Amino acid sequence: MSKNHEGVWGSCLKVIKDNISLQAYKTWFEPIVPVKLENDVLTIQVPSHFFYEWLEENYITLLRKVIKKELSAEGRLEYSIIMENNMTNSVPYTVKLPALNQKALKNAPISMPLNINEKQIRNPFIIPGLKKVNVDSNLNPSYSFDNFVEGDCNRLARASGYAVANKPGGTAFNPLLIYGGVGLGKTHLAHAIGISIKDQFPNKTVLYVGSEKFAHQFIDAIKNQTTNDFIHFYQMIDVLIIDDVQFFSGKEKTQDVFFHVFNHLHQNGKQIILTSDKPPVEMQGMEQRLLSRFKWGLSADLGAPDLETRMAILEKKMYGNGIDLPKDVVEYLAYSINTNVREMEGALNTLLAQASLNKKAITLELAKQMVDKFVKNTAREVSIEYIQKVVCDYFDLPLEILKSKTRKREVVQARQISMYFSKKMTKSSLANIGAHCGGKDHATVLHACRTVTNLSETDKQFRAYLEDLEKKLTIQ
Ligand code: ADP
Ligand code: MG
Repeated sequence: MSKNHEGVWGSCLKVIKDNISLQAYKTWFEPIVPVKLENDVLTIQVPSHFFYEWLEENYITLLRKVIKKELSAEGRLEYSIIMENNMTNSVPYTVKLPALNQKALKNAPISMPLNINEKQIRNPFIIPGLKKVNVDSNLNPSYSFDNFVEGDCNRLARASGYAVANKPGGTAFNPLLIYGGVGLGKTHLAHAIGISIKDQFPNKTVLYVGSEKFAHQFIDAIKNQTTNDFIHFYQMIDVLIIDDVQFFSGKEKTQDVFFHVFNHLHQNGKQIILTSDKPPVEMQGMEQRLLSRFKWGLSADLGAPDLETRMAILEKKMYGNGIDLPKDVVEYLAYSINTNVREMEGALNTLLAQASLNKKAITLELAKQMVDKFVKNTAREVSIEYIQKVVCDYFDLPLEILKSKTRKREVVQARQISMYFSKKMTKSSLANIGAHCGGKDHATVLHACRTVTNLSETDKQFRAYLEDLEKKLTIQ
């Protein structure tokens, strides 16, 4: 029986569904329509160019696998994209694009000596350490320095990363330890250093590896009795980047083996770059001798980006994707997601996806819904900064004036209203709210909240302002 496009795609979907989250499946696979199957080329129709790029970037490995499984080793995928209709063109048209077949950059397996050539490695006359092995660097080209926005929060880390990239192993920053909270750019910066080194010194062997993967490889090596090969392999690397070393906590054997690798590399002037979610002093369950080595070089922290940096990051991402969003939408995202860049980016991507799926214009309204639905609860509450901005826009006042000492009536009122809503809508302490409003103490904030409540009970006009503002601030 010959296969048809619907049958083949249906079988592909079954496998895909088992391999990704339901939310991702609904967002990215349900809207796809299979259109034809010809000479082992399956054509699927996707709603937009962005959609196509997203699939290529995130699901190509999986897609390729299922296509090959359902069709044949020669099976290929082709996309047909419905172009957005605009004013002059009411009939959607399609463009065809082949799957890029680009090499998956993420999680590419690294070649370990373990499975290269067992005979050679067992031969005592061949010193494994001298054998150059083609090592996939595991670097993601989009995590470059160019794409990393500089701000106060990352200046030291970025600058030291830059220095290391220009002179790997030749600065005092060895190891370079980058630490900071979740989603603040540690992985990105670590890749950026690796990419820059690869660009400038193509002969150097650069390897990025997550500490979890390192630990698993080590366990496998123990099982297969190939720990020596494992150690030799890592000792051959010129620039070793290990992400999230806090994962080694409590894993004594892994720490031991890493200690040996570390010493060897360091003694030979090789560069080591580490990232961690906390500074060395706060790492529990880590051997003292390893901790003291972490402190040999430089520990640089990444903080949460301020508003300007967040806006710049969003703008950079949009520019990179050739997308232009209304300014109020960008501002809303930057204001409301203020602790985690990854979440902010996730919200942007979801927004773009939803907009192109439903062929809706990207409006503030849609942005609010998205943030509400997809951002974790902690980040979902409106921020003090956002409240201040909405209040200032409403009364047509410049934002900085709230933080000034001015006692002009309308400014005082706007300040008090901001404090009132901050108290009502965020989990911030009174002291924190005060700090955001030009360094007021908690008693002032409390007083402001009472004044606003009293006024709203007696002054109709004032109450109307509050109701208006509350509507603007509430995330539907
Ligand atoms: P971490 O490793 O600290 O958890 P990541 O490096 O994975 O964080 O960063 C999360 C996301 O935020 C990535 O997509 C990264 O590109 C982006 N990002 C973080 N900081 C910046 C920055 N300064 N400029 C541009 N993008 C950034
Ligand atoms: Mg990371």
